[in-house]
Amino acid sequence: MKWKELAEEQDKFKKYLKKTYPKLYKKLGVPWQEGGMISGIGVGPGWFKTLEELSVKLEKIIETLPEDKQPSAFQIKEKFGVLRFYLDISNEEMNKLIDEAENKTSKVCEYCGKENAYISDYSFWMKTLCEECHNERKGSNVKP
Ligand SMILES: [Zn+2]
Repeated sequence: MKWKELAEEQDKFKKYLKKTYPKLYKKLGVPWQEGGMISGIGVGPGWFKTLEELSVKLEKIIETLPEDKQPSAFQIKEKFGVLRFYLDISNEEMNKLIDEAENKTSKVCEYCGKENAYISDYSFWMKTLCEECHNERKGSNVKP
């Protein structure tokens, strides 16, 4: 996947999330200087399904909370090959769901979503990719 395509996919998904889970993604698309989310959806399309599954559950919990206690996503990124999902406030129940989703991504290809992926170490960065996507990246100097 090329950078431009990736950016377009992320942008499409960003709009979808914001529309579908308005409470959870209240700060998505808002500039961080104005208290918005840091860097939008910072992961590849292979993890969108995992993010969606997590979002459904979180939005449901948020809806049960009083207005001034409703958290929203603060940062979504990839770190050391796995998903990192941050809420501005959270409780144990939410943290458990987030942990599960983050753990799951260590076995799901960040590019194509195939399972049985593994974390590859590209000396300067780590990525969870399936065999196919890994081979595609091997030897290229392009950041995976
Ligand atoms: Zn793949």
